[in-house]
Amino acid sequence: MATFERMSTILPDTAKVNSKGHLTIGGCDLVELASDFSTPLYIFDEATLRRSCGEFRGEFGKLYEDSLVIYAAKAFINSALAKIINEEGLGLDIVSGGELSIARSVDFPMSKVYFHGNNKLREEIELAIDCRIGRIVVDNLHELSLVNEVARKAKVTQDILLRLTPGIDAHTHQHITTGVIDTKFGLPIATGQAEEAIVKAMSEPNLRLIGLHVHLGSLIFSIEPYQKAIEIVFKFAAEMKKKHKLIFREFSPGGGFAVQYTQDTPAPDAAYYARAIVDAIHSACKEFKLEPPRLIVEPGRAIVGRAGIAIYRAGAIKDIPGIRRYVAIDGGMADNIRPALYGSRYEAIVANKADKKECERVSIVGKYCESGDILVKDEDIPRVVPGDIIAIPVSGAYCLAMASNYNASLKPAIIMVKNGKARLIRRRESHEDLMRFDSI
Ligand SMILES: *Cc1c(COP(=O)(O)O)cnc(C)c1O
Repeated sequence: MATFERMSTILPDTAKVNSKGHLTIGGCDLVELASDFSTPLYIFDEATLRRSCGEFRGEFGKLYEDSLVIYAAKAFINSALAKIINEEGLGLDIVSGGELSIARSVDFPMSKVYFHGNNKLREEIELAIDCRIGRIVVDNLHELSLVNEVARKAKVTQDILLRLTPGIDAHTHQHITTGVIDTKFGLPIATGQAEEAIVKAMSEPNLRLIGLHVHLGSLIFSIEPYQKAIEIVFKFAAEMKKKHKLIFREFSPGGGFAVQYTQDTPAPDAAYYARAIVDAIHSACKEFKLEPPRLIVEPGRAIVGRAGIAIYRAGAIKDIPGIRRYVAIDGGMADNIRPALYGSRYEAIVANKADKKECERVSIVGKYCESGDILVKDEDIPRVVPGDIIAIPVSGAYCLAMASNYNASLKPAIIMVKNGKARLIRRRESHEDLMRFDSI
């Protein structure tokens, strides 16, 4: 089978192969994009992006009227993306004053912005309250006092949620699991700290506690962790309602929805997660005699992952006979640290040979000074020569967002493609940029 058909489930929706045998996305030939914008280049397919926003909004909205999908900006955000997220009717989950500033740069409606994070700084809380942010999701007791103090000085009452730790293992990589007791995030239910925070929040004059939040981790392929968390949180909410008259008007099971990175790891779609979460909420409401709260869903990876594809140019090729063939590209761990950080797996497609059959097994490595800088291990691809364009699908989430200037490399340009047109949404860094903040 030709490479393209094999890869079609992980490529952006608009992926095609043209008469030259080149891969095209959004009607744009990736080989032409590589020469127009240079490489490494990150390409977002606007159609895939808007489709995934609409899918989450539609699937949850159709099963649960009072629901809001908010995009977790930490997966990747810039001004152009924030604008599209707003146009698609999603809210925004932010974790820093920086992300908040990007949202403000496109006049994102602040009522739909939720502020997360386990150690929000006073200045960040001040900025958030100053621009009338919708919710602050309070992570711990220290922050509860801090938010109240800042709100008091600003003479406002701030709507908050409390982030709870339900004590659930989402069975994902240990660096991205957050629901267990032994984590830096959230107020554990089991130790009594969650209850203490509820009592405290309800007594603070400048806070209005309107609900509870959990986030279990990322890349969660099964629905069980969500079902368990809903059962635990709703049971707890009913207890707190009885004991302390907690008003449970809003609930969020967080994000963490999986995406498919490789052909052997298919992921459930939005409809599947929506059905499971909504069913679990309805049955928990029944069991614990609660009114259905407003539902806030926070996908990050599932919105941008598949919409993004990275392209690189092949350079040095090293053969170690009988052992391995290394194809080195002009990017690597500085723009995508996920394989080195989490052991994440990717697949590759040769964009200028998308109609050719695989014939050799290679590992695709970056140009940075670390042996762990390997993007793809043991992939079967067509015969590659220096100058070929290597595309890595599903690069939209947590690649650019975690990009660094390691080896004083330049962060790549980002473009958005649609109907045969490409527009630059972030220019490539220059050498001057590297020294811009230095002084001697
Ligand atoms: C990271 C995060 C998300 C998004 O996670 P994904 O795996 O990208 O969907 C949602 N909510 C919170 C609180 C997070 O920290």
